[in-house]
Amino acid sequence: MLKGKTALVTGSTSGIGLGLAKALAAQGANIVLNGFGDVDGPKAEVAALGAQVAYHGADMSKPAEIADMLTYAAAQFGRVDILVNNAGIQHVSRIENFAPERWDAIMAINLSSAFHATRLALPAMQAAGWGRIINVASVHGLVASAEKSAYVAAKHGVVGLTKVTALENATTGVTCNAICPGWVLTPLVQKQVDAKAAALGVSNDDAIKAILGEKEPSMQFTTPEELGALAVFFCSPAGNNVRGVAWNMDGGWVAQ
Ligand code: NAD
Repeated sequence: MLKGKTALVTGSTSGIGLGLAKALAAQGANIVLNGFGDVDGPKAEVAALGAQVAYHGADMSKPAEIADMLTYAAAQFGRVDILVNNAGIQHVSRIENFAPERWDAIMAINLSSAFHATRLALPAMQAAGWGRIINVASVHGLVASAEKSAYVAAKHGVVGLTKVTALENATTGVTCNAICPGWVLTPLVQKQVDAKAAALGVSNDDAIKAILGEKEPSMQFTTPEELGALAVFFCSPAGNNVRGVAWNMDGGWVAQ
C-alpha cells in the first residue's frame, strides 16, 4: 500500500518508533530511522521486511540537526511522505524537585522537535498533494499523572500541535493525527517498572501488576505492533479524512 512512499520515524532505534517503522516498512514504505544506541540491529530488522532503509542520527533536541535530517531524507529518497514524530524521553519527579534542565530537555525532545520536523516536512507534502504526519503523543496528552509535569505538558502540547497542523492543511491531501498509547513495555517504561519494584520491594512481575493496576483497566500493555497497525490505518485511503484526532490505545485508561 505504501510502495514508493518514504517514512521518516524519529526515535526509531527502539520501542514504539521501531514498531511503527516496521509496520510502515511491511506496507512497502522506504524508511529513514533516527535515534541513539544500536543502529545496525534496527536497520536489519527493517531491511528484513524488504524495505529500503537509511539512518540519520540527529539529536532531536537540536533544530539544526533536525533540518539536516530532513535534507538527508529527501536526498536519499526524493521526499518525506510520512513523518512520524515519536522521539521522546521521560523524567519523574514532583514539580518542586523537578530539575529545570530535565524540563527543558523534555520540552525540546517531546514537543519542539515535532514542531521543527513538521514545519520542515510540510512544504514538500503540500507540493505533492499527499502527506501523513503522525504524532506519538500519549494518554498523558489527554489526562495527567502526578510527578510527570514536563511530560504531561509536552504531550498536551503535541495534541494541540496535531490539531493546528490538521486544520491548516484540512483542504489538502496532508493529514495530521496523534496516537495516544497507555502503557507500552519499552525501555522507557522498564525504567519506571524498575523504580516501582525498588520502591515496593517486589518482583518485576508484581511491579508491572502494580503499575497497570493504577491506570490501565485491561491490565495489559499495548504493543508496538498494535500501534503500528493504527499508523498504517492513518496512511491508508480510509484515513483520508481523519484529521486532528488524538486516538488513544490505552486499555480503557481515559475512559475512567
Ligand atoms: P524508548 O526509550 O524505547 O525509545 C525512545 C526513542 O527515542 C529511542 O530510539 C531513542 O534513541 C530516541 N531518542 C531519545 N532521545 C532522543 C534525541 N534527543 N534525539 C533522537 N532520538 C532520541 O521509548 P518508547 O516508549 O518507545 O517511546 C517512544 C514515544 O512513545 C515517546 O514519545 C513516548 O513519550 C511515547 N509513549 C510511550 C509510552 C510507553 O508506555 N512506552 C506511552 C505513551 C507514549
